[in-house]
Amino acid sequence: MNTPLAHAAALPMMLTELRLPTVRAQWQTVAESANREGWPAERFLSTLLDMEMAEREIRRIERHRSESQLPPGKLHSNFDFAAVPSVSKALVMAMIEADAWLEQGANLLVFGPPGVGKTHLIASVGHALVEAGKRVYFTRTTDLVQRLQAAKRDLRLPAEIAKLDRFDLLLLDDFSYVRRDQTETAVLFELIAERYERKSIGLTANQPFSEWNQVFPEPAMTVAAIDRLVHHATILELNVESYRRKTAEQAKDRNLKRKAATTTAED
Ligand code: ADP
Ligand code: MG
Repeated sequence: MNTPLAHAAALPMMLTELRLPTVRAQWQTVAESANREGWPAERFLSTLLDMEMAEREIRRIERHRSESQLPPGKLHSNFDFAAVPSVSKALVMAMIEADAWLEQGANLLVFGPPGVGKTHLIASVGHALVEAGKRVYFTRTTDLVQRLQAAKRDLRLPAEIAKLDRFDLLLLDDFSYVRRDQTETAVLFELIAERYERKSIGLTANQPFSEWNQVFPEPAMTVAAIDRLVHHATILELNVESYRRKTAEQAKDRNLKRKAATTTAED
């Protein structure tokens, strides 16, 4: 039984059992090179394990991207920073490239009227951090409040909040859409207090802090929530014209011009 062939026959089963799919798929090709070129055993082994680890990293990031629920295609590479002069591209890129702020549990707060690119911008930061190996979760704030409320009813709010601890960055989109008269929003305060100085939160909001009394059940809670959010935070204000409206108007202009041109041509 001690022939190379007998060893080889058992390999696929052993590699499956050990969950080494890349070694399983690649060992024959690598073994051929090794045999042909007379590699030392160390090189053969480390080549295969390198391949397994690289594949594993790719699969891990792919898993994190899919669990993040980030809106696809909202990337910093297709965000037109020139359209928002109040936002420093260098600052955003620095937050993407150096993730020390995540280690400190610092926050990113993005304000502005509808359509100015708040969601796009914050999602682009999320995507880049996932690529860098971080774990991110993007959600509409109203959806998360509902989920936390359901957990509270079942007396498992702390467990539900603890589950979110696995994410280095929690992105709460449209924070100020949450209304205290529609839902029990104290759960949102619990979440903010629990993550304070430990795990980062990113949020977008149409309403400035002065309007946040509509979000929380009591003014004292509003103040306490804002206090914790801004203590370590980068605040971006996108006070420009709606990008959505601007592009729609440009498209309309183009259509009108095209129509005018064809009418003139027909004249
Ligand atoms: P908000 O969240 O502020 O309401 P969005 O991020 O949803 O705005 O932006 C509205 C649309 O316009 C989206 O399709 C977004 O990708 C696009 N958009 C907004 N700002 C920009 C920008 N500066 N560069 C590229 N696309 C943008
Ligand atoms: Mg938005």
